[in-house]
Amino acid sequence: MAFFLSGSDTMIDFDAIPHDRLPVLLRTMPKAELHIHIEGSLEPELIFALAQRNGVALPYANVEALRAAYAFTDLQSFLDIYYAGASVLLEEQDFFDMGLAYFERAAADNVVHAELFFDPQTHTDRGVPIGTVINGLSRACETAQRELGVSGALILCFLRHLSEEAAFATLDAAMPYLQTPLQTAPQSARSRIVGVGLDSSERGNPPEKFARVFERCRELGLHLVAHAGEEGPPAYIWSALDVLQVERIDHGVACLGDPALVARLAAERVPLTVCPLSNVKLRVYPTMDRHNLAALLDAGLCATVNSDDPAYFGGYINQNFMEAFAALPQLTARHAHRLAANSFEAAFVDAATKARWNQMLDKVFAAD
Ligand SMILES: [Zn+2]
Repeated sequence: MAFFLSGSDTMIDFDAIPHDRLPVLLRTMPKAELHIHIEGSLEPELIFALAQRNGVALPYANVEALRAAYAFTDLQSFLDIYYAGASVLLEEQDFFDMGLAYFERAAADNVVHAELFFDPQTHTDRGVPIGTVINGLSRACETAQRELGVSGALILCFLRHLSEEAAFATLDAAMPYLQTPLQTAPQSARSRIVGVGLDSSERGNPPEKFARVFERCRELGLHLVAHAGEEGPPAYIWSALDVLQVERIDHGVACLGDPALVARLAAERVPLTVCPLSNVKLRVYPTMDRHNLAALLDAGLCATVNSDDPAYFGGYINQNFMEAFAALPQLTARHAHRLAANSFEAAFVDAATKARWNQMLDKVFAAD
């Protein structure tokens, strides 16, 4: 049957959509972005502008020299330059400017909702107060909602190459800013933090290392996500699910090597926040035509497309869609619609909001 009944009763004839309409659909369809490290959205131009504003010396002569240094070979060599770039962020206004610059790009890509990862330890370890970080980013979320119509939330990430003790110290410092039903400390009304995540170097830093801090976050009623199965093995995905009890897996592309894991992820509709350009840039796949995005979808998984660190990996969310679909001809309009619908299903928002976004999505695909 050519017709597919979508969530909002709109009949979409996917098979009748000509292949050459795909690029327009990918660009214009509403979507949510759920895997974006806001520090990874720092463009060389903004790094230099902030360095000048704050009197920070950079080990690069100019914007071109910095951009040329973005030739990483693996996750660690990327992280080295990533932390150097973050060194220019000192004042609340810097974090606001970085956040809003991302939201402007996201709005241009028809992102209706973004959940931004941020790494407080990258900043507090340099002496920047955690409130400076959270207030600047939360204010960017407010402005994005008001002026761009993009809703935003924040996910506080623990750096997994640091200790669990350091993660607990970060959680303690963030307590006044956590939006949770069980939070008893005085809350900052402005904070947009809805959950916690786990990022940075995966190899050698299994999820188990953070079992207790995630248990505490779960008790606080926070949403839980974790990077797993990017460079690490399927076993890290299992322990992210079973030990950390996360609701989403960030990346997770390694799951296809483990059929029992795929069956579990599909049955429980555990979202995977996949980042195609990142995976190619960091050599998880040698080229985009070897990426397993189509296989993940065809296995019935709730895969989504995201940009990870867009300033460093070659593009924002629409560039990820465009390059993945160009390299993988088995991806069709039905897959595009599925990816956008999955991003809404996976978002930490209420059901009524998701239904509204799905109606917007169906309208784009139903239009001539
Ligand atoms: Zn990531």
